[in-house]
Amino acid sequence: MKNERRTSEPGKGTGSTKDGAPRKVSGNALPKESGKAQAKAQAKAQANKAEAKRSHSAAAKASGTTSAKGSGTTAGAGSHDAVRIVFLGGLGEIGRNCACIEVNGRILVLDVGIMFPDPDMPGVDLVLPDFTYLRENADRVDGVILTHGHEDHTGGLAYLLRDFPVPVYGSELTLALARNRVDEAGMADRAQFIPVRDGERRRIGPCDVEFIPVTHSVPHAFATAFHTPQGIILHSGDFKIDLHPVDGRRTDLARMGALASDPGIRLLLADSTNAEEPGFTPSESTVGATLERVFLARPDQRFIVTCFASHIHRVQQVADAAIAEGRLVATLGLSMKKNVTLARRLGLLEIPDDSLVDIEDIDDLDPGRVCVISTGSQGEPMSALSRLAAGENRFFQLQENDVVVISAHPIPGNEWSVGRVIDSLYRRGVEVIHSGVDAVHVSGHARQGELAMLMSVTRPEFFIPVHGEYRHMANHIRLAESMGITGDRVLLCEDGDAVRLDDSGLHRDGTVPGGYLFVDGSSVGDIGHGVLRDRMVLAEEGVVMAVATVDLKQGEVVGTPQIVTRGWAYDHDTEVLLDEARAEVTKALEHALSNGSHDHETLNRAARKALGRLVGDRTRQRPMIVPVIVTV
Ligand SMILES: [Zn+2]
Ligand SMILES: [Zn+2]
Repeated sequence: MKNERRTSEPGKGTGSTKDGAPRKVSGNALPKESGKAQAKAQAKAQANKAEAKRSHSAAAKASGTTSAKGSGTTAGAGSHDAVRIVFLGGLGEIGRNCACIEVNGRILVLDVGIMFPDPDMPGVDLVLPDFTYLRENADRVDGVILTHGHEDHTGGLAYLLRDFPVPVYGSELTLALARNRVDEAGMADRAQFIPVRDGERRRIGPCDVEFIPVTHSVPHAFATAFHTPQGIILHSGDFKIDLHPVDGRRTDLARMGALASDPGIRLLLADSTNAEEPGFTPSESTVGATLERVFLARPDQRFIVTCFASHIHRVQQVADAAIAEGRLVATLGLSMKKNVTLARRLGLLEIPDDSLVDIEDIDDLDPGRVCVISTGSQGEPMSALSRLAAGENRFFQLQENDVVVISAHPIPGNEWSVGRVIDSLYRRGVEVIHSGVDAVHVSGHARQGELAMLMSVTRPEFFIPVHGEYRHMANHIRLAESMGITGDRVLLCEDGDAVRLDDSGLHRDGTVPGGYLFVDGSSVGDIGHGVLRDRMVLAEEGVVMAVATVDLKQGEVVGTPQIVTRGWAYDHDTEVLLDEARAEVTKALEHALSNGSHDHETLNRAARKALGRLVGDRTRQRPMIVPVIVTV
């Protein structure tokens, strides 16, 4: 497969125009008869035929017997099968990235991510894409492709595998990271993990898929080029254009440029995370230089550096800076330990054996000889760093003079937790260096300069921004427009949107369920927005319950109703108010009974209304009102 990588395909490369205006792209130049209506079974056979023809022609071309121009006669001869793309998540939030690429009725799934809950989702552990569409079309799914190992791209895989087994493709590291949750969930035997290499092009289900190296905050991330009957669909994955990456593996702009020239890129889908930020994201290697300086200035102090456990290049740079200053390195936190072991085994992380020390032995060493690399950069309450800050770590205690480096940026929503951990660290007399103090962190996502560069290299006919909140995608559209990609050539899509790419262009193609699927403990999808609304009211205002017994025969309230409250407080005259509440509920129930109402619903409503009005009028608060009416 790999030696085919540089071969171009027949019937293409003839339609590019100098200003990047819409052009006729002939795509994978299926044989003429593919335009006819055909059964699904035939479609696959034809695709194979097209593949055979392509290989043949490519070989012929290589031997100089034909030219791209000469074979251009296939272009425009009949129509080509439309390609459908369905966005299940990631367009409107950072997280739960998931898209379907559909060719000839077959589906490839690109990423299956999770999102961490927003503050308005109390009690929710994780948010998944809505899998309804995939479940209903499970027999058409040929594989899952994982662009890289971050959880917003891989964390939902275990949940999808519950619904149906499927082969999973990705780099070796990506698959190893993704397997963590899959193994935990006991779903490993429902997936076949198939590693792919940089630059590899392989047929997966309905189309050729090419894996193009990109730089990001986890090693071995891919952009994905889908060779379809409608031409090339290039998905950037999460990326930045780092010209000095720690491992020397750069974003392969040359290959993208080659595809743009021949056969041309029909549709670009690109990462919008930093589309609001002007300029260029600095190289990852700049962090190494900062760390060296920070270490050098504090030769006698113990260092604890925290970053994402999957950010192997960051770990490498922390280790390099520490070792250069004569320090030993210890890992703290389960996922850090696990990933360091994994990355060393895969040859992605170089830390000599004699530079590693067990976390339990660091108290025997001079502070100036120690660097701990830890998890917890997001202020997660149970993480290693939070426990250190709280003085609850079982391996060692922070001391005055220790230096904590937070080599990460809080994910939106985590700022408060991180701030609280930093405060606790300061209370222990620790010096804290975070990205607001020194350049100890850079983003893994492209800013406007790099996004513009990607557009200029790939010259796509159509563009859809992906991976971002709405404002990120809206800004990415503006950027595309400033690059001359305007009008019908750009489309702002959201979760649940489907689009169709056919000979006449890019069109919206309906919607599928694209909402949030909430995970709470072992419950998946049982929690809806109604439950969350209730939880928010309970969290913000508390609950006031009225428990009353009603004798339906006599048409009267038995005894005095009880008022029970939780999380609701009204400090002065509470007792007076509760007395009034009992009286109001009694009055409302008796009124309803005298009007002939004997059903629970009407009695409940009467009690709720009376109690709610009283509490609202007197306290200006809106707790949840729960009537409990017992009838005898
Ligand atoms: Zn990522
Ligand atoms: Zn991502």
